[in-house]
Amino acid sequence: MRNNPGAGNKKCSVAIDGPAGSGKSTVARKLARRLGYTYVDSGATYRAVAYKVLSSGLQANKDADEIGQVAGRLCFEFRDVDGQPHLFVDGEDVEEAIRTPEVGNLSSPVSAIPQVREHLVAAQRQMAKDSGVVMEGRDIGTVVLPGADVKIFLTASVQERARRRQQQLQEKGIYRDLAEILQQQQQRDDRDSSRDLSPLRQAEDATKIVTDGMSEDEVVDLLEKIVRQAEATKE
Ligand code: C5P
Repeated sequence: MRNNPGAGNKKCSVAIDGPAGSGKSTVARKLARRLGYTYVDSGATYRAVAYKVLSSGLQANKDADEIGQVAGRLCFEFRDVDGQPHLFVDGEDVEEAIRTPEVGNLSSPVSAIPQVREHLVAAQRQMAKDSGVVMEGRDIGTVVLPGADVKIFLTASVQERARRRQQQLQEKGIYRDLAEILQQQQQRDDRDSSRDLSPLRQAEDATKIVTDGMSEDEVVDLLEKIVRQAEATKE
């Protein structure tokens, strides 16, 4: 069931950023459902480009222009499938295909290509054009929606994030060593934080939440409280 803001309250735009494995995807999905807001997973759009690159024979370090053109041609839409948001690209449900570790690893160099970011940021803003949106990623509060009503930076210790990632993969039947996940996560964090273009960084006006020791529901409760307050005071 969808909850709407109380009488007189206005819907907000909510930006949730954070590193891989911070738990932001699950939390952002649950929060959007509770609030009756649109959910946009910006990382899924980068993954979708990486997925297309994998099957095209293009190379992220050599074919930037071609990959940029691929990104510009794709049409993205999130649709509910069995109560869960799935990314559809050109009408195809790619939700499962984009969640493999291979696609995840390639999405980081692909997302560092300026032409790709230009197209995807435009597509993400388009998906957020109606009020009442929860968008999650790395640069939502800093670049995609700098005027967001609520900005959250969600993080957790490296060990906690790797453990969560391992569990998520296991739930999909993919088994990986914790050491391997830690190493890939570190590489991805380093690349995402050190790139020149839209690096992973906390917006100055974001609220930082460290989720070690908190359950998902505790985090969602806290975020809902923050958004409800913002709704009540929104002009
Ligand atoms: O969030 P997720 O792990 O699915 O994102 C996949 C990759 O997409 C990240 O490693 C990051 O390189 C990139 N990304 C990004 N900007 C965003 C969201 C994701 O560069 N707003």
